[in-house]
Amino acid sequence: MAKRDYYEVLGVDKNASEEEIKKAYRKKAIQYHPDKNPGDKEAEEKFKEAAEAYDVLSDPQKRQRYDQFGHAGVGGASQSGGFGGGMSMEDIFSQFGDIFGGHFGSFGGFGGFGGQRGGRRVNRGSDLRVKVKLSLKDIATGVEKKIKVKKYVACSHCHGTGAEGSDGTKTCDTCKGSGVVTRIANTILGQMQTQTTCPTCGGEGKVIVKKCTNCNGEGIVRDEEVITINIPAGVAEGMQLSMNGKGNAARHGGINGDLLILVEEEPHPELLRDENDLIYNLLLSFPQAALGGSVEVPTVDGKVKVKIDPGTQPGKVLRLRNKGLPSVNGYGTGDLLVNVSVYVPENLSQSEKDTLNGLENSPNFQPNKTMKEKFFDKFRRLFN
Ligand SMILES: [Zn+2]
Ligand SMILES: [Zn+2]
Repeated sequence: MAKRDYYEVLGVDKNASEEEIKKAYRKKAIQYHPDKNPGDKEAEEKFKEAAEAYDVLSDPQKRQRYDQFGHAGVGGASQSGGFGGGMSMEDIFSQFGDIFGGHFGSFGGFGGFGGQRGGRRVNRGSDLRVKVKLSLKDIATGVEKKIKVKKYVACSHCHGTGAEGSDGTKTCDTCKGSGVVTRIANTILGQMQTQTTCPTCGGEGKVIVKKCTNCNGEGIVRDEEVITINIPAGVAEGMQLSMNGKGNAARHGGINGDLLILVEEEPHPELLRDENDLIYNLLLSFPQAALGGSVEVPTVDGKVKVKIDPGTQPGKVLRLRNKGLPSVNGYGTGDLLVNVSVYVPENLSQSEKDTLNGLENSPNFQPNKTMKEKFFDKFRRLFN
């Protein structure tokens, strides 16, 4: 099924402010909240659809990409931040639970998803950022990189709980293990039950009474990990890839953060990149340009032979089809553009000078009217 336009999903126009988008989402989320529509599959789909739209439109970068490229700009398989197959209820509550601002208690909170949640807060580890340097050759084929990262991992002594032994934690007295405290507030709509995170346990539902001696109660320790990253072909400088769950571990056994991989392109000694095309400047000697022949041109994987026609002019561009870089989306491959330059000798021996002096007045060496027009035409196009 084709995805609906995100602005249409939230019922806002394209110029909506962040605040308008947030308000519109909150309205939809309350309308289709599963606690209000138990067992209603259609409401659940609408609820997910609204969350996905909000995820994109509330993030300035994602929103810009969406405005420019549509759904393809935010759902790509290899780019960060896309959902691919949509969001799960777990994702929605862990990311946007706070949009309900605690005023959702009258519908029974967010209980019931995934069993273990029950209103308790699940810690999330922070994202980890690394840079990878890639050669054009790596980019042409895609590459597997192993990198060593320093990061927080779950403490092996306490298995991430932060507590020493089985009696190291106890249920939080303040919230009786629910992770939230409930208050009755008087509002213009009458009495509302509101829930906020428990201040004693920080929403975890339990407190540590005996700290793990290895991690001092944190549940995480610093360590090193070698991570294998599969870089797809066609990436470019500045692109960011992400690996779910490969970032820092969370305190007290929560969800891992993500590993964000920033692509850096190593300059190639001879080739320049223009999106998926590559450009090579071929410098011919004057006799080569005049007489023609065969020359070698570098590509990302080895050299190829290129035929030079007799009388090849500087500024001519030869296009070697599909010798560029593949598109990151898998749509085709760029070309290698060979720009011809001609080297005019700077130092000549006396006999070479004599030879050239003899040729100077030869009619074949004189640019005629047609030539002048042709070159002027090229020159004019360069400046338009
Ligand atoms: Zn520990
Ligand atoms: Zn508590």
